[in-house]
Amino acid sequence: MTAHTDQPIKTPPRAPSPVHGFGTLAVHAGSPHDPATGAVIEAISLSTTFAQTAVGKPVGEFEYSRSSNPNRNNFENMVAALENAKYALAFSSGSAATTVILQSLAAGSHVISVSDVYGGTHRYFTQVAKAHGVKVTFTPEIEVDIREHITESTKLVWIETPSNPTLRLVDIRAVATQAHEHGIMVVVDNTFMSPYIQNPLDHGADIVVHSVTKYINGHSDVVMGVAAFNSDELNQRLSFLQNALGAVPSAFDSWLAHRGAKTLHLRAREATTNATAVAHALEASPHVIAVNYPGLESHPHRAIARKQHRNAMGGGMLSFRIRGGHAAAERFCQLTKIFTLAESLGGVESLCEVPSSMTHAGIPRDQREAVGVFDDLVRMSCGVEDAADLKKDVLQALERAVAEAEGKTTTGNGVDGTNGSNGV
Ligand SMILES: *Cc1c(COP(=O)(O)O)cnc(C)c1O
Repeated sequence: MTAHTDQPIKTPPRAPSPVHGFGTLAVHAGSPHDPATGAVIEAISLSTTFAQTAVGKPVGEFEYSRSSNPNRNNFENMVAALENAKYALAFSSGSAATTVILQSLAAGSHVISVSDVYGGTHRYFTQVAKAHGVKVTFTPEIEVDIREHITESTKLVWIETPSNPTLRLVDIRAVATQAHEHGIMVVVDNTFMSPYIQNPLDHGADIVVHSVTKYINGHSDVVMGVAAFNSDELNQRLSFLQNALGAVPSAFDSWLAHRGAKTLHLRAREATTNATAVAHALEASPHVIAVNYPGLESHPHRAIARKQHRNAMGGGMLSFRIRGGHAAAERFCQLTKIFTLAESLGGVESLCEVPSSMTHAGIPRDQREAVGVFDDLVRMSCGVEDAADLKKDVLQALERAVAEAEGKTTTGNGVDGTNGSNGV
C-alpha cells in the first residue's frame, strides 16, 4: 500500500473535481473515511438532532436533520461532483425537486415546457403551479419556436431530453442560448440519461434535476430526487426552500441512494449495451412498426446524441410500436419472462410497460398520439442482465404476442423453446 491510500481522496465539499474521472468520483466523492474509526463506508446517522456546547454552538456542523445531516450532505456532494456542479440539493422525490424549483418562482411567472414532459411534472404544471399564479405553456418543438412563446414574465424553460416515452432529444445548448438572451433560466430533467451519459450544465443548463428513484439509486428501492446547479444565488434560494418546505429524504434513503450511485457508471454502460442489442433486434423484426432509441443511427435526433451524450451512448430506455395494436402491446408485456410488466425505470432489472394505458393514461388520446404515444407503443427499461437473454426474451414474446393478435394459435412454447410458465 502506498502512503496516500491511507487518506480519503480529497473531494472538497460542494465543489467539482475536474481532475478525476466519473468512475473515481462516483466511488469517492462525498465518501470521506470516518475520522474517528477509519470506517471506509459512512455510518447511517439516524439522529434527528445534534448536541450543542452552548446556545447556538453545535458540536459539529449539524443542528437538526431536516436542515442538514451527514448522509444527505455526502449524497449531495457526490451528485454535485457527477453533474459538474458546485451545489446539489436532495429531496424526498423527483417530484419534490420539481415542486421546490417551481415554488421558487414569483406569483405571475411564466414557464415554457416541452410537451412530452414526465406525467407527474405535467400534472404539477397544469394542476398545482396554476394555484400559486404560475402559468405554463407547452411546445412540441422548443428549439424552433421558443422565441414565439417568450413573454415579459417568462422566467423558466423546462426541458426533458430524452423525452418520455418516445425518446426524442432536445438540443440543450440551442435552447439555453435563446433563453439566456432573455435572462430566462433553463432546467433539464436528466432522469432518463443519468449523470453518466449526459451533463446538462456543461451544455448551458442552469439547473439539472433527477428522479434519483431511477438510475442514480438504480436498485428500485428508494424514492428520492435531486437538483444540481452552479449559482450561489440559486443555492441560497433553493436550500432555503429545501428546509422551509421540508420535502427532504431520510438519512437511510440518502445512504442507500449514495451506495447505489457508486456503480452508476457500470450500470449505465451495461444498460446501454443491452438496450442497443434489443433495439437492433426489434428493428430487424417483421413484428415491429418503429423503434425509438437514441443509440440507433436511424434515430431522427442522432446528431444531438453524438453531441450531448457520453460516447454517443443511447442509454437504457427505448420504446417501439408492435404490430397488432394495443392487445399485442399488452400481451407482449405479459409474455416476456425477464422483463417485468411494471412502471418506473433505471433499475438493475429490466421492465416493460404500455404507456397509453399506464404511465401516460391521464393524457387525452389526441394529445398523446400527437407526440407519438400510440396504443401499440411499448416502453422498455433495459437492466443489467445479459444482452443475449434479453434479446431472446423480447423475440419470443414478440412472436407469440403478434401471433395471438392475428388470431393464430400458438403451441404455448416460445421461440427459445422454454415453457411459458417458467418465469424468471
Ligand atoms: C420518475 C420521474 C420523475 C418523478 O420522480 P419521482 O421520484 O417519482 O417523484 C420526474 N421525471 C422523470 C423523467 C421521471 O422518470
